[in-house]
Amino acid sequence: TPVENKTKGKLQKQICQVVLDHFEKQYTAELGDKWTSVRDVLTCPSCWQYAILLNKFSQSAELENTLRVEGYHPAFQGTLPYLPRSLKCYISRTPRRFPAQKHQTGKLKEYYLLNAASVLPVLALEVKDGEDVLDLCAAPGGKSITILQCASPGQFHCNEYDDLRSRWLKQTMESFIPDPLVNLITLSKLDGRQIGDFKPELYDKVLVDAPCSNDRSWLFSSDTQQAKLRLIQRKELSSLQFQLLRSAIKALRPGGSLVYSTCTLSKAENSDVINLILKSCANVMPVDISEMAKAVSQEFTFLSDTQQHELLVLPEKGKAWGPMYVAKLKKI
Ligand code: SAM
Repeated sequence: TPVENKTKGKLQKQICQVVLDHFEKQYTAELGDKWTSVRDVLTCPSCWQYAILLNKFSQSAELENTLRVEGYHPAFQGTLPYLPRSLKCYISRTPRRFPAQKHQTGKLKEYYLLNAASVLPVLALEVKDGEDVLDLCAAPGGKSITILQCASPGQFHCNEYDDLRSRWLKQTMESFIPDPLVNLITLSKLDGRQIGDFKPELYDKVLVDAPCSNDRSWLFSSDTQQAKLRLIQRKELSSLQFQLLRSAIKALRPGGSLVYSTCTLSKAENSDVINLILKSCANVMPVDISEMAKAVSQEFTFLSDTQQHELLVLPEKGKAWGPMYVAKLKKI
């Protein structure tokens, strides 16, 4: 089947029917009526929105003026501790895409385009200055640079297993973080499942932004055979996610906490994984993130019947952020 149509000289994304049929079945069962409005956003790339995360290391008042003139407003501005003043993320209610900045050697980028829901795992992590932080699955680095917008960690260790993606991570860090700070960040290419054994009880905070089904990109798979293969591989993801979490728990100091996030709606990769961890690890307990969710509820639509230690962002027209699942745990 032709996957991309050329219209008006632009490549248009096309939905992969096998994946949509699969989602239709699974998410109708899991989300009921809510799936219909989520599907309407996911299947409509022209409805998608992009947030603009400003880089505090390359501040530009001119850029902020331009954004305001173009109808963007700052999200995550409040007085709660979850909303660090140094974090500047602009969003617009209408779907539009600000041009991405190209990598230029020797010049820091002024902003990063992202799904606004990607900021939520970082807010939930609540990194404080001086804390030792591990970003277990870090490439391309969107959340790593968001962490650095919020606080100045003591040790900051960013890990990515995939060779190509780890080079991408390095480039992101070099594009956003100035010398000498960038040299203080440890980059590694380890299997995240083993880091707990290599670095036991070393970190105050660990982010596990896990490899997952990634509903948005999967829905627009350009290769139907590949998409079908992923349907089979999908079943193995929960086990990988569980092992990454086990490793993250080992890497945490007692009293430290971790945030687990995915960009899928799938219960098998979200609350089922967290519930299994809570059942099988006696040294972890859930952390209530409902106050944080309340603080940002103007900008996001959350699934209502989740537990206090988790949230699921459901994309909606005008708030087309997510899917994003976030859960927080603490090591006793
Ligand atoms: N945190 C990133 C960001 O915000 O830009 C996105 C991370 S992406 C959801 C998950 C990443 O985990 C992928 O880059 C993937 O290559 C990586 N990954 C897959 N298996 C891994 C493993 N065993 N250990 C560490 N990273 C792994």
